Amino acid sequence: MNSRNPIYNDVTYLKGVGPKRAAELNKYGINTVLDVLYHLPRKYLDRRNIKKINQCKIGEETVVIGTIISKNIKIIRKRRLFQITIGDETGQIQCVWFNGLSWIMDKFNINDQIAVYGKIEFFKGLKITHPDFDIIENNDENFNTGQIISLYSTTSELKSTGLDSKGFRKIIRNILLDKKYIIEDFMPDNIIKDENLPDLKSSLMKIHFPNDNDEIKTSLYRLKFNEHFFIQLLMALKKYHIKKNNGISFLNRGEYLKKIYESLSFDLTSSQIKTLREIRDDLKSNAPMNRLVQGDVGSGKTIVAVLTAAIVIAKDYQVALMAPTEILAEQHYISIKEYCEKVGISCDVLTSNKPQKEKKIILNRLKSGDLQFIIGTHSIIQSKVKFNKLGLIIIDEQHRFGVEHRKLLVEKGLNPEVLAMTATPIPRTLSITIHGDMDISIIDELPKNRLPIKTEIITPKTIKNAYSKIKKELSNGGQCFIVYPLIEESEKMDLEAAESGYRKLKEIFSEFNLGYINGKMKKDKIDKQMNLMAKGDIDCLISTTVIEVGINIPNATIMLIENAERFGMTQLHQLRGRIGRGTKQSTCIMVQHKKTENSNKRLKIMENTLDGFIISDEDLKMRGPGDFFGTKQHGFIKSKVVDFNEDGPIIRSARHQAFKLIDSDPLLNNNKHLKIKNIFILNYKHMLDFIKIG
Ligand code: ADP
Ligand code: MG
Repeated sequence: MNSRNPIYNDVTYLKGVGPKRAAELNKYGINTVLDVLYHLPRKYLDRRNIKKINQCKIGEETVVIGTIISKNIKIIRKRRLFQITIGDETGQIQCVWFNGLSWIMDKFNINDQIAVYGKIEFFKGLKITHPDFDIIENNDENFNTGQIISLYSTTSELKSTGLDSKGFRKIIRNILLDKKYIIEDFMPDNIIKDENLPDLKSSLMKIHFPNDNDEIKTSLYRLKFNEHFFIQLLMALKKYHIKKNNGISFLNRGEYLKKIYESLSFDLTSSQIKTLREIRDDLKSNAPMNRLVQGDVGSGKTIVAVLTAAIVIAKDYQVALMAPTEILAEQHYISIKEYCEKVGISCDVLTSNKPQKEKKIILNRLKSGDLQFIIGTHSIIQSKVKFNKLGLIIIDEQHRFGVEHRKLLVEKGLNPEVLAMTATPIPRTLSITIHGDMDISIIDELPKNRLPIKTEIITPKTIKNAYSKIKKELSNGGQCFIVYPLIEESEKMDLEAAESGYRKLKEIFSEFNLGYINGKMKKDKIDKQMNLMAKGDIDCLISTTVIEVGINIPNATIMLIENAERFGMTQLHQLRGRIGRGTKQSTCIMVQHKKTENSNKRLKIMENTLDGFIISDEDLKMRGPGDFFGTKQHGFIKSKVVDFNEDGPIIRSARHQAFKLIDSDPLLNNNKHLKIKNIFILNYKHMLDFIKIG
C-alpha cells in the first residue's frame, strides 16, 4: 500500500470530522478515510417517484413529502406508540413507531418539512409503520431534486454529532471529490476485462450517489466481486500450499480393499462409488489429497473412509481418524474394528478416559508402526502422540474442528492425505466459500434398504396421541428420543421446561426406562447416558439439543421434538437424522406450539423433504448464513455486501479468476499483482501462518 495515499489516514484528519466525530466513528468500526467510503448505504430513498398523498396506493413502497401537522404518544395495551400526522395539499397520512423511540420523537417539530418512505397501509386512514424518513432542512440541496438518496446505518451518538444520513452523504461526497484521496483499482486489467467489471472508483461513487437502479446494481456487483475474490484468493492460496507439497502416491489398491469390499453385506450406493473413485484419483496423484465428503447422516461415509484407509495401510502407512467426541470415536472404533479384524489390520481407540497404562501401550505401538489404524478424539493431536509413518488423516464432522486442529494432526505426518467428512449439508455457495480450499465429493443418496422417515407436524392438543404412538413403538422394542430446545438467550427457562417435561414424562412413561440429559450437564454424565441409550438400556432419552451428530442407534425409531418452531431447519434435519438409521420405519413428530407464517413454512418443508441439501438451501434463504458458520470458521467473512443466496454466479466467477491468478503467480510476486497482495495481507493477517505469502 502506498503509505502516502491519505485515503488510509485516520478519519480524524478528514475534513469536517473532528476528534469527537472521529471517536464515535471509531466506536462504530470506521477508522480510516477508506472505511468511510466502505460504509455503504443500507437503503435508498427513491425521490424520483414522489407521490402526493391522494395518489398513494395501498401496499406500495412510496415516498411522501409533507408538513408535520401533529405529533403525539399513545399507550395502547401497555405498548408505547408514537405517531405523527403529515399533510400535503391533497390529504393526510399517519406515521407510527412502536416502543422506546424517544430520540425519534424529539426529532420532529410541528411544521417541519419531512420526507417519509415506506409501505402504504390502510387502518383508519392512510398509514406507514416505521417509515424511513428525512427531515428536510431548508438548506438540504437534495430536497425534492428527483434523485435517489442514500440512507446510512448510524447510531444515536453519531447522529448527535450530526452524522445522520445527510451527514454521511456530505463527508462521503467530500472524500470522493477530493483529488488527494486516490482510489486505485487493485484488480489486474485482464480480470477487469474478462469479467467486464466497472472500475472501482466509479463503483464507489455510484453506490453512494446513484442516478438509477442499474448503477446501484452494477456497482454492487463490483463490490461483491471484490469481497468474494479475496475470499477465494485465500482458498486458492491455501489449496496451493497443500498441493505444492510432494505427497505419497498410492498407485495400487493393495491387498485389503478387495477383501473388505467383498465382505460387505450390502452394495455400495452409486454416490459412494463415485466418491471412492474421486478419492482413488487423489491417492494416485503425487499431491496430497485434501478432500471433503459431504453426505447426509446415514449416507454411509464411514465405509468410504474405511476403504480409503485400506489402500493406505496396504502400502505400510498408518491412518488416524479424529472424531469430535468420545462417543463418536468409540462408535467408529466398534464398527471399524470389525472390518479391520476380517483382514488383519491392527486398530485401536485413543480417548482421554483410557487408563494410562493402555494409553502408553497405544503410543508405543503408534511410534513403532505396529498399530496401523488409530481412532480418537482431540487426544490424538497431543504432542506426545507420534507416528511411525502417518499416511492418511480422516476427520469426522470436520466443521467441529478448527483449522489449527487439522494443522497439528497433519504435521504428525509428512504431507499425509486428508479426508474430511461432514454430515452438515451446506449450500454449494457456502461450501465453496468455507471449504473452498478442499475438493468436494457429495454423497447424495441413502442406502437402498432404508425406509424414508415419516414426519408429522402436530400441535400440543394432540400430544396424547403422540405419546400413545411412542408407547406402542417402545413396547415393540424400539427406542425414542424426546427433544427440548435450549438456546442461550432463554437458557434458564428452557432448562426448566425440559426438566419439568422430564418429570411429566416419567409419569406418563412409568413402565419404561427413561434417561435425561441437558446441554449444561458435565460431559461424562452426558456420555454415560448416551452410552446407555446406545446399548439399549434406556428406552427413551429426553434431552435438550445435545444428541450428538453422527451417533448411530439403529434401534431408535421414533423422535418427538417439542417447540419445533424454535429450531432452524438444518438443526431439525440433524436431529431427525438420529432416527431412521436402521431398516425399520421411523417417525419424527414435531410439536408446533406457536404458529407464525414463517414457522408454518419451515415445518412444512421439514414435513415434505428429507433431502439435507434442499433443506439447507431453504434455511439459507430464510435465515441467512449465520447458522452455517462455526464460530471457528467465521473470522474471514466480515462483509456487509455478500449475500450467499444471491451471489452464486459472482462467487463462481470470482473463484475462477482467483484460482487462475494463483495458478499463474502463486506468490503474487508479479508487479501487476502487488496491490492485490498488499490488500490481501492487510485483510488476512491472522491467516498468514497458513498461506505463507507475507
Ligand atoms: P454416516 O454417513 O452418517 O457416517 P454411516 O457410515 O454411519 O453413516 O452408515 C450408517 C449405516 O449404514 C451403517 O450401519 C453402515 O454400515 C450402513 N451402510 C453404509 N453404506 C451402506 C449401503 N450402501 N447399503 C446399506 N447400508 C449401508
Ligand atoms: Mg458418520
